[in-house]
Amino acid sequence: MVGGGSSKKEVLNPKAIIHQRFGDKALYNIEEVQDSSSNDCPGLAIPRKGPCLYRCSLQLPEFSVESDIFKRKKDAMQSAAEKALEKLSDPPVEDPSDQLVARLSYLFSNEFYSLCHPLSGHFRAALQRAGSLNGFIPISVMPVYDSKLSNLCKKIKPEIESKPLEVMSIIIDAATRLSESVLISKEFISLKRTDPYPPEVLQSIENHCEQEIYVKVIRVPYLIEKVVEPLTLDVSANKYYMDAIARELGSVDASMVLLSRCIGKSSSDTRLYFHAPHSYQSDKEKYFEDGSFLNARASYLSGQDIYGDAILATIGYLWKSCDLFIEDVSPCTYYRLLMNKVPTGIYKLSREAVLAAELPPKFGTRSNWRGLSPRDILCTFCRQHRLPEPVFSLVVNKDVPEETRCDVKIFSKGQNLILHHYPQDSFKKQGDGIQNASSTILLWLKNYLTNLQVNQEDFTSYGNGTDLDFYPEHISKELNLFSFVHKKLLAINDTNHSSSVDSACSYNIEGPDSEVFAANGCLVCVSYSVFLVKEGEKEFLEKNDEFEFELGSEAVIPEFEVAVAQMSVGQSACFNVELPSQELIFAANGDPARVLSLLSSRGCYLEYSTTLLQVTEPLEDRMEKAQFSPSLSKQRVNYAVQHIRASLATFLVDFGCGSGSLLDSLLDYPTSLERIIGVDISIKALARAAKTLHSKLSNNSNNPVQSSGLKSALLLDGSITTFDSRLYNCDIGTCLEVIEHMSEDLATLFGNVVLSSFCPKILIVSTPNYEYNVILQKSTNQTQDEDEEQNSTKPCKFRNFDHKFEWTREQFQVWASDLAGKHNYSVGFSGVGGAEGVEPGFASQIAVFKRGFELPIGEDLVVAPYDVVWDWRSTNI
Ligand code: SAH
Ligand code: MG
Repeated sequence: MVGGGSSKKEVLNPKAIIHQRFGDKALYNIEEVQDSSSNDCPGLAIPRKGPCLYRCSLQLPEFSVESDIFKRKKDAMQSAAEKALEKLSDPPVEDPSDQLVARLSYLFSNEFYSLCHPLSGHFRAALQRAGSLNGFIPISVMPVYDSKLSNLCKKIKPEIESKPLEVMSIIIDAATRLSESVLISKEFISLKRTDPYPPEVLQSIENHCEQEIYVKVIRVPYLIEKVVEPLTLDVSANKYYMDAIARELGSVDASMVLLSRCIGKSSSDTRLYFHAPHSYQSDKEKYFEDGSFLNARASYLSGQDIYGDAILATIGYLWKSCDLFIEDVSPCTYYRLLMNKVPTGIYKLSREAVLAAELPPKFGTRSNWRGLSPRDILCTFCRQHRLPEPVFSLVVNKDVPEETRCDVKIFSKGQNLILHHYPQDSFKKQGDGIQNASSTILLWLKNYLTNLQVNQEDFTSYGNGTDLDFYPEHISKELNLFSFVHKKLLAINDTNHSSSVDSACSYNIEGPDSEVFAANGCLVCVSYSVFLVKEGEKEFLEKNDEFEFELGSEAVIPEFEVAVAQMSVGQSACFNVELPSQELIFAANGDPARVLSLLSSRGCYLEYSTTLLQVTEPLEDRMEKAQFSPSLSKQRVNYAVQHIRASLATFLVDFGCGSGSLLDSLLDYPTSLERIIGVDISIKALARAAKTLHSKLSNNSNNPVQSSGLKSALLLDGSITTFDSRLYNCDIGTCLEVIEHMSEDLATLFGNVVLSSFCPKILIVSTPNYEYNVILQKSTNQTQDEDEEQNSTKPCKFRNFDHKFEWTREQFQVWASDLAGKHNYSVGFSGVGGAEGVEPGFASQIAVFKRGFELPIGEDLVVAPYDVVWDWRSTNI
């Protein structure tokens, strides 16, 4: 390697040159691609079998480029580097130090003074400063508000990006070369133009505004125990606002005040202001090295190291106008910025409902999901933590070639793998795979972050499960600050709310009963408001005139869901809920001072008021009504009635009776039935069933029931996968549209239990025919013109988001035949909706099992795990 130094220079490859110039700031992102164009998901590609192809994107501080496609990752990276170099060398390279001096000289020109530029406002305001500071501009603001200046500094010394003090010393060096026209004050770390501006320049921008201007800002103390504190700054036009901020930081003037990068939206000009380390001139940031003054909250928010107290403010000059732009920053703003760094918070904010919405536990279909999609939330999360975009790759399922799995990787800034999720589930639609995988990661992150704050020592053992690997050593310092900062923000999701509120009467439901209730799976629309309450004192926090969610999807706090499930359309409810975390309360719209004073005393709670505005049935029901006459559910009832009549059954059990639609309709027909039992696990559904059956059976005028022989009706609460001897040996059992609401394993368990233990003479099982969905979805998309176009191109996967599966005819028949064979039953297949023998079969497929053996007589075992919900006996025996 003799002489390697010089010869190496000549053969430096593009990547090496980029590395020399940008070091860690050059981010390479390699993506697996397929050269075919047949994929409906932009930006994503399915790798084919055989060699993978790669594309590399290179992100530099100022721009990014994308390589061509190569067989080798290396080549893709070189190609990206080469493209970046081409772009960089576009303007003829001039010495950046000379350019910096030229730029600085321009900034002190007459021309710049009268411009509307984010920095020129500082030049004008500097002239308002009193005494020896008059005309001096703090160097710290210059690179922040003039990107040309900061880019030139970066060119001179690429590694200084996050070191404001070094940027400032480069500017001082440049200013020294302008000693004729620019005065340097080492004491104030400021620059001033030597000659005064000519009067005509000064007059061009007259400072006519004498009125007093105040802006609300927030102090973020470095001591984590201290709450953030709202302050009001005097930023009247005859003062320099940087000095006002400096005074709040305990300084006489702005000399040593540093500014963070923009926080939240980059357009917002919301920044943190903080004091530079005192030993600036000598040993740079040594003073704070032990970290004791590290401001965890401010550092976490900005992703920069911030020491001592900080001020969070939205203030600055803009391009549009020469006036100072200000916006109040409240504790609410601060907490919303914090919330936007965690998955649940991002979701809540996207739903514009801080207090009501929770990140749903899983992604069903896009049409059932409100707010930002899981994928978007994940991307926002990465962006908020300045991580590269997550990398999604789709892998074809070898067994089912039309389905793909989605693999997701999250990398650190330095391109180290942080998290890798490789779910086994595959999907027909690539989008579904992406959303499902994202959703799993979000929940994992939520749990990880929650655990992290509970027990920091333990967190290395987290992850590395069956489909998710996690490398905590690569997560950023910033994410490690998380546990200090969020404290209770996430804990709220795991606290048990239901302890204080359980009985139905505490919901105070009011208004006439319209009888229109929402069942699980319905889309409900409510209005609500939330107050913070303490002994009659009330502080408004949040309201929403139209808020939609799916009942049963855990999209809202549990109390809210329970309340809505009990209301009919038009009714209102009012109920109290234990306090969530302070962060959540502050993130709502309350007056921070009042909120603080209420919270500081004990006995506070939240009061929710809500009105149920509208209930939309699950897509399943809408489709069934739109397409069939009589409706599909009516047709199922008719089908069951035929069998009941033909079999002369006297004892019927409805497995998974729901709200009792079958039992209710049966009572409208004359049958041989004497005894009916309905069983379900949903207490809400059973309560509704009891209500309808009760009114039908007690109101006996002109009722066929009266003339029929019905002797008893029983509603039981229990799972149909568990045996209960009261259901043993019925003449006919029905299980309509139930099995698809359980997992496939449980459906099979039910099949085994019912045929081996309950032993009905006849069992009718119905479930949707997946193959029929194409027709259902086509027809509803045509009729639902109120739905946006995008919905029609994305048919929902299943008919109801509560469905765990929907089977093809073949799947259902295999399931049923296996069971029948095993338990000595015969089975035949039929259906309702559509016609026999016509593709794609019936809309609802039905299996009718018939017992092929006699039961032993005198069986008297009594097992009764189910709870009686409602028990009716006929009085005319
Ligand atoms: N058979 C009714 C309801 C169908 S909805 C009808 O045709 O209208 C499906 C019902 O199955 C729901 O009410 C749900 O609570 C019930 N269910 C799901 N799993 C169950 C289980 N393991 N045991 C009992 N009921 C169950
Ligand atoms: Mg169903």
